[in-house]
Amino acid sequence: MAGPTGAPERISQCCYQHALTPGAVFCGECGKPILRCMAYQECGGLVGDDGCCSVCVRPQLFLDKDAVTDVKSGGVLMLPLVFYNASSIARPLFVTDVWVREGEGVRRRIEMPWKRLDAGGSNRLSVQTGALERQGRHGIEITFAAATNYFMREEKFAFTSSLGLEVEQGGSLVINQTINASGAGAGSDTVYAPIRLETMADSGRKVADAGGKAAELGLQRADNFEASNGIRGYVDGPLKGSVVSRGARIVWKGFGPSAPPSGPITTADSILAAGRGRVLAQGGDNHLQLLVTDANGKPDEQLSQAISRRHIEFCIQSGRLCARVTGSAGIMIGDHKHGADDAIAVINHGDIIKVLPKFPDAVGLQVRMRANYGQIDEITITRIPALPEANSR
Ligand SMILES: [Zn+2]
Ligand SMILES: [Zn+2]
Repeated sequence: MAGPTGAPERISQCCYQHALTPGAVFCGECGKPILRCMAYQECGGLVGDDGCCSVCVRPQLFLDKDAVTDVKSGGVLMLPLVFYNASSIARPLFVTDVWVREGEGVRRRIEMPWKRLDAGGSNRLSVQTGALERQGRHGIEITFAAATNYFMREEKFAFTSSLGLEVEQGGSLVINQTINASGAGAGSDTVYAPIRLETMADSGRKVADAGGKAAELGLQRADNFEASNGIRGYVDGPLKGSVVSRGARIVWKGFGPSAPPSGPITTADSILAAGRGRVLAQGGDNHLQLLVTDANGKPDEQLSQAISRRHIEFCIQSGRLCARVTGSAGIMIGDHKHGADDAIAVINHGDIIKVLPKFPDAVGLQVRMRANYGQIDEITITRIPALPEANSR
C-alpha cells in the first residue's frame, strides 16, 4: 500500500516466481494476491495497490548541466529539465502535464511542447522560476502527470520532485533534495548530492556545476495530488477524490450458486470478463456467467441469447472501476447507452448496469463501493434481480 509519503511499492521476488504459474491467483510464499500489470503479457510486471508497474512506468528527471541564474535581472533561475523514460521494454510514456510550485505558492501549469517520451528517450523542458531573494531557502516543487497505454487501456500517475534552493553568502546557489524513501523508520531517506551553481565572474550569470553531466532529481509518487486533481480516482459523484485500490476485493452478490469467487482482479490480463459464455471453471473464458433467468434461477434460453458470449469486461484503471462493452447489444449505465465502439466507461458508486438495454429489467448489476480515507478496497456487485442462494433452492 502506498504510504503517505508516496513511497513506491516493492513487489517481492517470490510473487514474480509464483506469477509464472498460469492461473496463479495468490503468491504461495507470502500469500499476497498476484496483481498483474495490464500489459503483463509484454512486461511481465506485477503491481501493488497503487497500480504502478515499475517495468512500464519508469520516468526519471534530470537537471541538465547548464542551469543558469540571471543575477542581473533579479535572480531568475532557468531550470533545464530533462525527462527520461527508463522503461526497459519499448513502452512510451505520455507526459501530459507539468506543474511548478514555488514555496507555498500556487502551482503553475507549464506549456508543454511535447507529450510522448519513447522508452530510452529523453525530452527537455525549461522551467523558469520567479526572482530569487539574495539569501535564504526557496522550495521548488516540480510535479508531472504521466500516462501509459496498452491497447484501449490507460494508467495515469503523478510524480513530484522537491528541490530546496539555498543562496549562500557570496552568491553561490545550492540545490538540496531529500526523498523520504519510507514513511516508517528513520535513516531510510535518500539524500541526493547537492547541486551547486557557481558564479561566473564575467557575465554575472551562474551555471550549475554537476560534474559536467546532468544531475538526477529524486522523484516521488504524488498520490494525494493524483486524487485531488482527478489524475486517479473519481472526479465526480459521492466518491469524488477517492481512489480504487488495484487490489480491491470484488464481492459478488445475488448470483446464486454460480457466484464467482470474491477477491481482487488476479487474471492474466487483469480483466474480469462477463457474458453468456461459460466460466473458466467450466472450460470457458468468462469470470462471471450472465444469463437471464426466472425468479427461481432457471435460465431463459431465448432472452439469454441477446447477451453476447463475452459481453462486458471489467477492469480497474487509474483508480476507477471501468467497463468495456464487447457485446453487440451494448449496455446501459444509468441513462447512458454504451456500445462496443465506445470508450471504456467509468463505473461509479450507485450505478446500475443494465446488461440488455432493450430489456432493462432482465438482468442488472448494481455497483456499490465505500471509501476509507479516500481509498476504496471493496466493490460489491449485486445482481438485480437477485437469484436464490444455493441452500434455498
Ligand atoms: Zn510473494
Ligand atoms: Zn507493465
